[in-house]
Amino acid sequence: MFCPNCRYEFNVGVLVCPDCDEKLVEILPEDEKGPFTDDTKIVEVFQTSDRSILSFAKSILEENDIISIISPPIGIRGTAAVYQFFVNEYEADKARELLDGIEDSQAEAIE
Ligand SMILES: [Zn+2]
Repeated sequence: MFCPNCRYEFNVGVLVCPDCDEKLVEILPEDEKGPFTDDTKIVEVFQTSDRSILSFAKSILEENDIISIISPPIGIRGTAAVYQFFVNEYEADKARELLDGIEDSQAEAIE
């Protein structure tokens, strides 16, 4: 787990950075400088408990140059952990559009 603010890596089980009071994320944004500054607002655009949809959604956002961060599991749905996607608020509408119906399309692709 990583702090999106100071980019420090923490052991599994730590959910909040003790230095920054930031919620830790599983994957840091690729860009070293990061699009998320102190005054960047991030908003949730999507959540899923499906690991394949998780990486599918991330790749869709990356293809569209939207950098996302994935939350630590926020709960359990059935037997799977539920993850949330956050993006910069300015890209939230576009991200929601891109991810709209992604669970359905993925399910169809599998069948
Ligand atoms: Zn930190």
